[in-house]
Amino acid sequence: MRIVLASSEAVPYSKTGGLADVTSALAKSLAGSGHNVTLVVPHYPQLQRQNGKRPLASTGQPLQIWLGGKIVTANLYWGTLPGSDVTVLFVDQPDFFDRPALYGNKDGDYQDNCARFCFFSRAVMEACRTLVLRPDIIHANDWQTGLIPALLEAEYRDQPGFENTSSVFTIHNLAYQGQFWHWDYNLTGLDWKYFNAEQMEHWGGLNLLKTGISFSDMVTTVSPTYAYEITTPLGGMGLDGILSRRSGDLVGILNGIDPDEWNPATDEHLPANYDAKTVFEIKPQCKAALQQELNLEVRPDVPLFGMVSRMADQKGFDLVATAAEEMLKLDAQFCFLGSGDPRYEALVRHLANTYHGRVAATVGFDNGLAHRIEAGSDAFLMPSRFEPCGLNQMYSLAYGTAPIVRSVGGLKDTVVDASPKNLFLGAATGFRFEDYDAAGLLWAVRRAAEMYPKKNLWQQLIRSGMSQDFSWGKSAGRYVEVYERVRGIGGGGGSGGR
Ligand code: ADP
Repeated sequence: MRIVLASSEAVPYSKTGGLADVTSALAKSLAGSGHNVTLVVPHYPQLQRQNGKRPLASTGQPLQIWLGGKIVTANLYWGTLPGSDVTVLFVDQPDFFDRPALYGNKDGDYQDNCARFCFFSRAVMEACRTLVLRPDIIHANDWQTGLIPALLEAEYRDQPGFENTSSVFTIHNLAYQGQFWHWDYNLTGLDWKYFNAEQMEHWGGLNLLKTGISFSDMVTTVSPTYAYEITTPLGGMGLDGILSRRSGDLVGILNGIDPDEWNPATDEHLPANYDAKTVFEIKPQCKAALQQELNLEVRPDVPLFGMVSRMADQKGFDLVATAAEEMLKLDAQFCFLGSGDPRYEALVRHLANTYHGRVAATVGFDNGLAHRIEAGSDAFLMPSRFEPCGLNQMYSLAYGTAPIVRSVGGLKDTVVDASPKNLFLGAATGFRFEDYDAAGLLWAVRRAAEMYPKKNLWQQLIRSGMSQDFSWGKSAGRYVEVYERVRGIGGGGGSGGR
């Protein structure tokens, strides 16, 4: 199949969260099984200079993009995703993308985000047309590319090269909807007839996530539990109505993890590598090195709890704040890495200053340290309010680190609680708590701290975790089933927004 994947971020070029990991890993896995994959991303020169990626070759075919009554040029560069056959097309427009961050600065989102990503979505379609990519599938991701399925139906369907193109839209996080005031609708360039409550309009404004949901042939999201949660008023974030209507075309496919990036046996960021056979011998070295690096007391006997996360309300830092004092009555250490909401940055800094040698806080984005925390910690905190899939708990399982999670979304689908029954069955892989409250988090942290010295039980938990298969092969296979279904090959055939 010829597949065009469109995303606003992809490792190793740009990343703010899981979307970047998922896009590249899916692209690689699809290409590895013989599909022709083109990944289209914006070109963020400042970020690429920072991460040392080489200059790119131009396709020599600039695109003229219609945007709100103006013509804006997109230069196209191309490259190859490292370690794969995936062609990467970079959409270059310095006024929009040559900025220090992807979506905003300390004052909030960039004011022209609607223009930036309407431009990008149009550029994806124009790139398909001018480079004659003839995609069978255009797979758009999140609100930044939500306009693409609408452009396909409203403008490109009858153009040469798109006769057999179907669209798939993936929701990586329903909390970010690309909601703009109604006048921004002019930037889409579409007829105002689509500005209605069934398609693109939402509470009087333009909603680009809703646009992707309504126009795509099939909608996916990143875990089965989240696929259900978002059709309910509690988890639907105002879009449960349209998601329920499309529930026949909505599937949850768990993300995989990229073994080139996240594998303790080959991870270049670690002081020592290990696998399931050597974990109990080598992982203590990683822990000691991490304690040293973060100025924690170097003690093998205390459980070390790690947390790497965007500091957003979603991630449960308010629970950490409430439970911190009680958690720190345990003989345990904590290390935090993250950035975002200044309140939570202040919280972890405060904890580190107060509990010197027992709590470490690193405010910022540090990929190497994220890897070392996964390897050096004994347990990993993810007390999310909601979690579409979550990657860190899967990295934790792969790195022999017990995840402590709230029972929600993808966390529920990937972590088996250490209940007496699950321990007896040898199925337990971590600790889950149900309700979103500090008492639940504290209960789970205490259970982990109590089990940690019981070496047999703990080692069994770690072994079960490390034996889980979160390879992309499995997940990519499910995406191919979806692609085949919308192409009509798999039997179902998409209904979509047509
Ligand atoms: P989300 O996509 O909601 O942010 P995920 O758990 O799905 O959450 O993915 C987060 C990804 O971002 C992981 O790869 C995680 O290691 C990484 N990450 C988050 N914050 C940081 C940080 N401050 N430094 C390094 N990596 C980070």
